[in-house]
Amino acid sequence: MTDRKTQLAGNLAQVEQRIAAACAAAGRGREEVTLIVVTKTYPASDVRILSELGVRHVAENRDQDAAPKAAACADLPLKWHFVGQLQTNKVRSVVGYADFVQSVDRSRLVGALSKEAERAGREVGCLVQVALDAGASGRGERGGVGPDGIEELADLVARAPGLRLDGLMTVAPLTGPYAGREQAAFGRLMDLSTDLRRAHPAATMVSAGMSADLEQAVAAGATHVRVGTAVLGVRPRLG
Ligand SMILES: *Cc1c(COP(=O)(O)O)cnc(C)c1O
Repeated sequence: MTDRKTQLAGNLAQVEQRIAAACAAAGRGREEVTLIVVTKTYPASDVRILSELGVRHVAENRDQDAAPKAAACADLPLKWHFVGQLQTNKVRSVVGYADFVQSVDRSRLVGALSKEAERAGREVGCLVQVALDAGASGRGERGGVGPDGIEELADLVARAPGLRLDGLMTVAPLTGPYAGREQAAFGRLMDLSTDLRRAHPAATMVSAGMSADLEQAVAAGATHVRVGTAVLGVRPRLG
């Protein structure tokens, strides 16, 4: 193995062990939690190595980086998740490679995604991004819609041609009442997911937890964890 492959294999094994231990502690089966490796800022060569090591889900947060990377990895059996704030003028490009968009947080974006998905003849899985630190505006600083806005957006996605409503996503808030209380934040997301599933039983994905807090997310009931740093290393710049 190359040095990089050895390194990634070791990191991946550690993350796998953490997820397995968190599942065991929560009395959950390991197969209930899917690992998504966040490859943002890292090259396509790393994505290729991860695929060789058995990773099947990767995530990106900037279309400029993601589009060429996804094109370079089009031969690999990967599912691509888009997890960043998404401008409508990037939607056509994102729909070209993303199997899931986890950052759906406003009606205009739903309209644009639907239009481009139909045009491309693709079905895009959508998660409503929930901002648990949403202020009076009903929006989070890093994207996301406040809990009061979920239902309307979810209904819109569910009715939109080319889109499939898959669930909810959140990032643990750095400010507000949930700051530093990851497990409580993820528990709140689970309650919101329970509410959502009354009207949309198939929207079962709960995407929460990153390198620093994946254990709390698994304990709360997350179905998907998004891990970057713990697999690929500390990013050279903020991404
Ligand atoms: C970067 C990122 C992650 C991964 O964060 P790490 O701390 O590197 O594990 C997860 N989710 C989103 C939305 C991200 O932007």
